[in-house]
Amino acid sequence: MKKVAILGSTGSIGTQTLDVLRANPDDFTLVGISAGSNISMLEEQIREFHPQICAVWDEEKAATLKAAVADVTPQCKIVSGMEGLIELSTMPESDILITAVVGMIGINPTIAAIKAGKDIGLANKETLVTAGHIIIPLAKEMGVSILPVDSEHSAIFQCLNGEKENKIDKILLTASGGPFRGKTRDDLADVTLEMALKHPNWSMGRKITIDSATMVNKGLEVIEAKWLFNVEPSQIEVVVQPQSIIHSMVQFDDGAVIAQLGTPDMRLPIQYALYYPKRVFLKGDRLDFSTLTEITFSKPDHDTFLGLKYAYKAIECGGSMPTVLNAANEYAVAKFLDKKIRFLEIYEMIDYCMSCHKNIDSPSVSQILETEQWVYDTIKSKWSD
Ligand code: NDP
Ligand code: MG
Repeated sequence: MKKVAILGSTGSIGTQTLDVLRANPDDFTLVGISAGSNISMLEEQIREFHPQICAVWDEEKAATLKAAVADVTPQCKIVSGMEGLIELSTMPESDILITAVVGMIGINPTIAAIKAGKDIGLANKETLVTAGHIIIPLAKEMGVSILPVDSEHSAIFQCLNGEKENKIDKILLTASGGPFRGKTRDDLADVTLEMALKHPNWSMGRKITIDSATMVNKGLEVIEAKWLFNVEPSQIEVVVQPQSIIHSMVQFDDGAVIAQLGTPDMRLPIQYALYYPKRVFLKGDRLDFSTLTEITFSKPDHDTFLGLKYAYKAIECGGSMPTVLNAANEYAVAKFLDKKIRFLEIYEMIDYCMSCHKNIDSPSVSQILETEQWVYDTIKSKWSD
């Protein structure tokens, strides 16, 4: 019986993780959950799964939840704030932490979990993008596994099974191209939030859906792949594959290319991380090669979708530059979701911050968080609210 804690149990990845646990009650127990503020869903999860700890970021909401679940036995301990997220992430009862929280808020809880010896099912890519140089060596030192949940990275991880001794020539990271694939920069000038939220293949949280539209998501995934698979950026090639059937591929030194294919269903990579290295039945659609007419490929349009360009620049600079890219993007996407800025202003905010940042070599966690604050202050001083 594996004991699972989830950082961000109310979101898209969090609830799909619960679907996997629900389908396999003999193999998993849910011991801890958490969210930012969605206490009504947390209450439902407490009543269904009876976890031991529930962390709520918002302190007032935590107090309301505590009163609401006072009748549940055995009692669930309700904790709050960063201290609460860390308590959940390091709870002695868990074996694995699924990091399904969105954004850099995941850095400290993830590091604390690794220090406490927990395996990590990693969905929260922003943490690896900004603190990969701290997390990867720490995980190695602690002997914990970082199991990718992001579909592309899970695909690469699956392609690398049994290939430990073999050199990766290149990683072919697939991208759907998002809702605006084929559009020009002029077309993007007046796209709306509603248009950007309509992803053609995947149903995901709002932030990552916008990241897919700008292709910043793919840029973050390039950085994520560099850390997870220890490859040079020049060995990562993004391939647009609009049907989202090939989830990524690895080319080896002998020219062989191994790919992982499947229907777009995040429960598969989640389940693979939870059961690794075992595969078990997953209820859902299967690829039907008798009706599948085509899988097509093209090059990404780097000049229109600047997300990739910024990501390659950020890894080339290294240090705190990936944090600048990520933090500026988090800030800009939040503003776009609030309808305060236009779509192309997301790129402008990232570009502005990256161009005036004084890079810090190998930043510590506090320097990463200071850089995040610097980015917010820098954007606020140029763009009025
Ligand atoms: P969602 O927005 O759907 O969910 C985010 C989760 O984080 C929610 O549970 C939310 O709680 C919680 N949260 C937000 N802020 C805080 C906070 N301050 N403290 C504690 N919890 C907080 O996101 P997704 O599930 O889409 O994405 C999660 C991560 O996984 C992201 O890093 C994303 O890039 C990555 N990912 C997602 C994929 C997907 O298919 N969705 C695919 C691949 C990667 P609340 O509900 O209360 O706001
Ligand atoms: Mg992905």
